[in-house]
Amino acid sequence: MDTILVVNAGSSSVKFQVFAVEGDGRLQRQLKGQMDGIGSRPRLRASGASGEPLADRAYPIEAVADIPAAMSVAGAWLKDELNIRPIAVGHRVVHGGADYAHPVLIDPVVVSRLERYAPLAPLHQPHNLAPIKSLLSNFPALPQVACFDTAFHRDHDPLADHYAIPHQLHAEGVRRYGFHGLSYEYVAKRLPQVAPEVAVGRVIVAHLGSGASMCAMRAGRSVESTMGFTALDGLAMGTRPGQIDPGVILYLIAFNGMSVSQVQDFLYRDCGLKGLSGVSNDMRELEASADPRAAFAIDYFVYRIGLSAGMLAAALQGIDAFVFTAGIGENSVSIRARIAERLAWLGIVLDPAENARHATRISRSDSRIPVYVVPTDEELMIAQHTLTLLMNQTLPSPKSERI
Ligand code: ADP
Repeated sequence: MDTILVVNAGSSSVKFQVFAVEGDGRLQRQLKGQMDGIGSRPRLRASGASGEPLADRAYPIEAVADIPAAMSVAGAWLKDELNIRPIAVGHRVVHGGADYAHPVLIDPVVVSRLERYAPLAPLHQPHNLAPIKSLLSNFPALPQVACFDTAFHRDHDPLADHYAIPHQLHAEGVRRYGFHGLSYEYVAKRLPQVAPEVAVGRVIVAHLGSGASMCAMRAGRSVESTMGFTALDGLAMGTRPGQIDPGVILYLIAFNGMSVSQVQDFLYRDCGLKGLSGVSNDMRELEASADPRAAFAIDYFVYRIGLSAGMLAAALQGIDAFVFTAGIGENSVSIRARIAERLAWLGIVLDPAENARHATRISRSDSRIPVYVVPTDEELMIAQHTLTLLMNQTLPSPKSERI
């Protein structure tokens, strides 16, 4: 059976999923796996479609010293033990810059263009590109597709795409890109099935995971995002502060003597829920903690989501529905309830019983604005894009004349 491999590579882990391509072109998830502890304590874990364990094994550090090594160990496991030889590989790539509003078939030219965006996402882009480059050199004929977190937001109005800085910087790429686009795109595709009456309207989607952002959608298209140039902006996250006065950064450099890389580490790793609570970056641990700083961090998280909802409602000139997704949004009954309470002024009233049982629609039937929980599936989105590009590539191209 034909399969598609989906790869999401980070600094010390490579997550992967395999989808079978069925006769009618539908995709069926076969397995999920990840190699983590790359360069420290490498460990491969994988489970099948129903969660049954398929592998859990440790490797010596020198066997999996970097991402290319992790790809070849995981690839060999798939091929030798499960006889899986993917017909194509889809990659999550955080930044498509100003160039890419859609997924793209990878070739060396695309790779070098994507490398230019590394400064825009220094902690993600080089790791996302590492498996692409190693597969390109080891299997040059294997089709690979890059799917971008920024692409879904690329047709924002120029007003939403700019900072109030000289235009030259915008031309250089200093723009409000927005992220989590694969998640929002998946939700936008699901909404017509879940709630057809609002899918064509104005919807705020809250992607609340370790990284968190919110997207304002009109008729399934992104018009505004809480994130901007990097994935640091907007909501407070597990370890990132969200919106912060740039003057604070100047203060850290000028008066606290921090270097650029120290500030970068600080902003990506030590702020957000972790920095505020001093307890954890993990919402489950904060909810279970008796430490008042954990409670404060949760209060802050909820408060900022409320503020951002107001901003996005203004961008949309009103809202027709609110959607929760990602780890916290899909699982935390109490965070959903607290956010809904803050949004009562918009006309949101949750149904506590429906919220507690994680129903798809969790608002009361008389809530002016309905609220939904739509579990996201970024990997399926990547697999679908990969299959689509693959099919377009293999179809004979129509004869066309140059304009
Ligand atoms: P990512 O994919 O960005 O790592 P996820 O979407 O998996 O993030 O979300 C991770 C977050 O979801 C963590 O803060 C985790 O604590 C939170 N989370 C997961 N399950 C629950 C739950 N049952 N209650 C509260 N928070 C949860």
